[in-house]
Amino acid sequence: MGTDTAKMNSPKLGEPYLLTPGPLTTSYEVKEAMLRDWGSWDDDFRAMTRKMRSQLLALLGEERAEYDCVPIQGSGSYCVEAMLGSFVPKDGKVLVLANGAYGLRAAQTMECIGRDFHLINKGDYLPPRGDEVTAILEQDQDITHVLIIHCETSSGILNPVEELAGAAHAAGRKVLVDSMSAFGAVPLDASRVKYTAMVSSANKCIEGVPGFGFVIARKDEIEAAKANSHSLSLDVHAQWATMEKTGQWRFTPPTHVVAAFLKALDAHHEEGGVAGRGARYTRNRDVLVEGMRGIGFETLLADRWLSPIIVTFFCPADPKFEFSRFYESMKDKGFIIYPGKLTVVDSFRVGCIGQMDEDVMRQVVTAANQTLDEMGVATAAPPQAALDERKKLAA
Ligand SMILES: *Cc1c(COP(=O)(O)O)cnc(C)c1O
Repeated sequence: MGTDTAKMNSPKLGEPYLLTPGPLTTSYEVKEAMLRDWGSWDDDFRAMTRKMRSQLLALLGEERAEYDCVPIQGSGSYCVEAMLGSFVPKDGKVLVLANGAYGLRAAQTMECIGRDFHLINKGDYLPPRGDEVTAILEQDQDITHVLIIHCETSSGILNPVEELAGAAHAAGRKVLVDSMSAFGAVPLDASRVKYTAMVSSANKCIEGVPGFGFVIARKDEIEAAKANSHSLSLDVHAQWATMEKTGQWRFTPPTHVVAAFLKALDAHHEEGGVAGRGARYTRNRDVLVEGMRGIGFETLLADRWLSPIIVTFFCPADPKFEFSRFYESMKDKGFIIYPGKLTVVDSFRVGCIGQMDEDVMRQVVTAANQTLDEMGVATAAPPQAALDERKKLAA
């Protein structure tokens, strides 16, 4: 798939673009691939599963021989839970590095599955840093694993994953990565970040439809994970062992979603793989951020921490600005944006991922500008409190 507008699949008339971090706008071909039925036990579908696993591993490059790919039914959170429950032994302990909703959800998961953890909570968007990890690992020898959120989708921050993994490895601990919203568009180089396991899902940067996720893990670690899991259905080792033996998923697979995902993987390959996909998303972000700043909006994050996945903007201070009206009016113009998840100041988010190019992002900016006019908002400048918050990030 080319990146020029002519070839980009725009949604059908009246169907808005999803400027959200998944489910996102998918191509017509991806949706079309779901128009037939497959038997889960049939050779055709087994071949599809095999192909999908090897195509996902191919995205790792050189290091792939040491890893295997295990798809898991459900949304991304199911995979996070499967990873934590399968690779952390019952007497293990995880250092959870949180700076937003997904890190906190991982901590909650640890609580639910009854595994010990230590939480570093950096608040809404401050990045956890390597020296903090080093200090805690020195103090707490019980910690066996460190969980890193690659892109914390609640603010859009791209966490310093190599720095954090480096600190964990230097202290002899294992690394788990939630790369849900980054995998496929932001490199996660296994030669530099020797992770035990990472997870992502079908409906993020590969641009499939929702229904399953996948764990990519070192083969020796998968083998060692036998009987660790707290769960029958979320047991990565058991799913892997069955797939290796029979080519089948253990329980009913999302057949149509897998078919769609294979189409999405082909398009990902044609676009130039991780580098090509990442380049389009980066252009999307750059056009969006420059355009929105041009009409007075401010981003939560400094350029250094902005991911090419999703961007958080402060809501304008002008009392005439009302998020629900802004949202509805953007939707009328064909764009579904995303509410913010910050606790201190009002914000909203705009995703850069999915079947969209920079031309669409220009239209988003134009729509935002028109909407401000309609609302009678004189300036999109955020309140002083927001700028004060942001200063903390620079400190
Ligand atoms: C999307 C996402 C998840 C999973 O969320 P689901 O709603 O369960 O799909 C987990 N972590 C991150 C960082 C995400 O972006």
